[in-house]
Amino acid sequence: MATRLAGIDENIADAARNAGRSPDEITRIVVTKFHPASLVRELADLGVHDVGENRQQEFTAKAADLADLPSLRWHFVGQVQTKKARAVRTAASAVHAVDRVKLVQALDRAGEGLEPLDVFLQVNLTDDPARGGASPDGIEELAEHIAAAETLRLQGVMSVAPLGEDPARAFARLADYAERVRRIVPGATSMSAGMSQDFAEAITAGATHLRIGTAITGARPAHG
Ligand SMILES: *Cc1c(COP(=O)(O)O)cnc(C)c1O
Repeated sequence: MATRLAGIDENIADAARNAGRSPDEITRIVVTKFHPASLVRELADLGVHDVGENRQQEFTAKAADLADLPSLRWHFVGQVQTKKARAVRTAASAVHAVDRVKLVQALDRAGEGLEPLDVFLQVNLTDDPARGGASPDGIEELAEHIAAAETLRLQGVMSVAPLGEDPARAFARLADYAERVRRIVPGATSMSAGMSQDFAEAITAGATHLRIGTAITGARPAHG
């Protein structure tokens, strides 16, 4: 895994330089879903700070197992059910898939007395509402709700490239949406985009947070 991690970091640095950007402005999150806590511990030993999970129960259990590693920053990258908002918020440093007003309200209510939570506004780049993410015409309204939530800090936008579309094209669209969000929250300069197969295209489009799983961890174990 050390070799894969170093190789990906080299590819990230190359893609950044090719885009005229500094690798320092890019956060590489290792998505560890379905892998055991022991793998996350191994990553921490390799110097990884940012890790990502996408299912609340698995996330809560792993974060508890690894509570002795305060250097870990947990990014929740999956869909959040409103009734799980408190559980997610308890252990996450950032929530990437904030895509509806009800979730903004649930996360905000769960934040009373806690540190502010970094959140990303997820945009759906497909025409399929089932894919998760706010539809582009709802971006402004959602950004305004997040801006008004006292315990949330809007970092920027997040998305997953649609299957069957050139990711470069999809991420260029996301960059336009990011600009619309910045008109409402000027500090929301981040873009969470890019996975194992398309992080180079995401970097070209301006991604600041990459969510990379299998290219670093290897294949995920079967899950039920
Ligand atoms: C699993 C997952 C990733 C990582 O995917 P890989 O293809 O393994 O790199 C990134 N983002 C989200 C939202 C995920 O669920």
